[in-house]
Amino acid sequence: MTHLVGATGRSPLHFCRRDKHRHTHPSFDKYNPTYYNVSMSAKDKDNIERVVSGKAEEEDLPIDYTLRPKRLPEFIGQDKVKDNLKIAIDAAQGRSEALDHILLYGPPGLGKTTLANIIAAEMRVNIRTTSGPAVERPGDIAAILTGLKEGDVLFIDEIHRLNRIVEEKLYPAMEDYAIDIIVGKGPGARNIRLNLPRFTLIGATTRFAMLSAPMRDRFGSVYRLDFYDENSIAAIIKRAAKILKVKADEGGIKEIASRSRGTPRVANRLLRRVRDYAQVKGDGTITKKLALEALARLEIDNLGLDELDHRVLRTIIEKYNGGPVGLDTIAASISEEADTIMDVYEPYLLQLGFLDRTPRGRVATPHAYEHLGIPYNRKDKPPQLGMFDK
Ligand code: ADP
Repeated sequence: MTHLVGATGRSPLHFCRRDKHRHTHPSFDKYNPTYYNVSMSAKDKDNIERVVSGKAEEEDLPIDYTLRPKRLPEFIGQDKVKDNLKIAIDAAQGRSEALDHILLYGPPGLGKTTLANIIAAEMRVNIRTTSGPAVERPGDIAAILTGLKEGDVLFIDEIHRLNRIVEEKLYPAMEDYAIDIIVGKGPGARNIRLNLPRFTLIGATTRFAMLSAPMRDRFGSVYRLDFYDENSIAAIIKRAAKILKVKADEGGIKEIASRSRGTPRVANRLLRRVRDYAQVKGDGTITKKLALEALARLEIDNLGLDELDHRVLRTIIEKYNGGPVGLDTIAASISEEADTIMDVYEPYLLQLGFLDRTPRGRVATPHAYEHLGIPYNRKDKPPQLGMFDK
């Protein structure tokens, strides 16, 4: 099994609204100046989803499709993953075989779905897409599998959320290209084994640890996507600006890139937000000055942290004296779901070195205090040295 680590990088960000009336409420009109007004009520703030979340929001869906690179050379960054995929694809094509099953994991918005589609395009096969929670019953997975053709790619997003019974149906499908189905009912019911075409399963997950061991073992290769470095994000923004016909100078692109949390989806979303601002407040060209103004109004700081990141850190520091504090407690304090914190906020805070994960909970590091301008006054005793440790 190959286990690859992708490019490491820095910084992700965002803003969008969870309010279901967003299309009708006047303050959700992007061209209404109050849209950018930062002095919102606490209630309004609760209704704001993060511009800096790597998770896809409704507003991203059409644009995601337009901006999605279609072939491998267009896919920017993650060079190790790309190189290894290229070798695997060339080898499988050379043997006229289907690719081994592939697992892609990493925080949301880094390109897992994009890569799955690229792999299918490079292999010149069809891709069938579904997600863990969408496949509820064994019959659902049987229907999907029996509909596949030789070499096809089956992409299962959030594969860690497949239920156990469905997962067990997948094991023989992945291993032996066969599926057992039960025909008839009661005492006359019989088990029939159907052969399947050789297909490639591509699973994507934000939670590698939540995949069962038998599932993990059935993937021929596992690729981890990491946050992108700033140059790669700048290149992704440049590409998106070209496709969306947005004029942006180097300074403007750099400002957006540095606040994009190393996440292409966040970069694309920020680009659109700043474009709107530049259109209303300037001549439509994204300059450094306009980008800075727009991002300040979105309350995104120089590292790409937004108000919710600050709340997570402040909760740990101010309410729990820097930690350790359990994830559920943090989640309850800021009225968020523990899963969301783990998938969306935490990876980037860990990457920045602002949080540490310890067996007893999350701890805010001195870097986090410094960033928030809070004096670090913990007087923790260093761990006791043993008699022979000196
Ligand atoms: P994930 O499945 O990991 O949540 P996606 O594949 O949906 O992420 O990527 C989110 C968006 O980011 C895509 O629509 C695409 O526009 C953009 N994107 C992701 N990776 C890249 C990349 N390497 N180069 C250019 N754009 C990218």
